[in-house]
Amino acid sequence: MTSIAENLESVRLQIAEAAKKSGRSLDDIELIAISKTHEAEKVRAALEVGQQTFGESRVQEARAKIPLLPSTARWHFVGRLQKNKIRHALPLFELFHSIDSIGLARDMNRIADEEGLHPRVLLEVNVAGEGSKIGFAPDSLRAEMEALLGLPRLTIEGLMTIPPLAPEAGDSRKFFVALRALRDQFENEFSVQLPRLSMGMSGDFGIAIEEGATLVRVGTAIFGRRTPAKLRAENTGEI
Ligand SMILES: *Cc1c(COP(=O)(O)O)cnc(C)c1O
Repeated sequence: MTSIAENLESVRLQIAEAAKKSGRSLDDIELIAISKTHEAEKVRAALEVGQQTFGESRVQEARAKIPLLPSTARWHFVGRLQKNKIRHALPLFELFHSIDSIGLARDMNRIADEEGLHPRVLLEVNVAGEGSKIGFAPDSLRAEMEALLGLPRLTIEGLMTIPPLAPEAGDSRKFFVALRALRDQFENEFSVQLPRLSMGMSGDFGIAIEEGATLVRVGTAIFGRRTPAKLRAENTGEI
């Protein structure tokens, strides 16, 4: 088994290669180490070799894990955010990748106002338009965009997508291209800046970088395979 330090080194090399291949600056690409399901000690190992930003997908898990780690660690939220978890989540995360409905955006805006916070968010788009229904369909996002931009507490910094599971990394490319094209259209149509594109995971982050990703969300390639939640619960007695 390879160590987290070695895995990170390898991921960083692949990021550098993809950036070079596409003539992009490494400064424009941020690696988010997705630490969901992995214990705090693994996060600490990554922090010790210079990884700064981590991603979690469950608020409860993050609330338990984040206090165990140095405050130098920075946290992004990448999962489905339940409305009743927004208040707890707001102070923990510096970027929310996965705003997937106008209702969630409105609730976050209202609670952020009550808490005196200004969350930074990305809008999750279902560019494939099939399979799982998570994320805005491109047309409904276009229809909601004015309303979203009018929410005074939210800073909308860009778009995020999770392509459908596919056997080949190359299968994701067309979805990354589509997300970037949608971003370009929206910048024109709505006269906004949407500089951030969150796309690419362990299997396809190199391709995502070639197509313009500014945030790649890499879990397995850094921390190893995740134990399925059901097994973990059986082993630890968690719910
Ligand atoms: C778990 C997760 C990842 C990381 O996936 P890997 O294939 O393990 O790299 C990336 N993005 C989101 C939204 C996730 O939930």
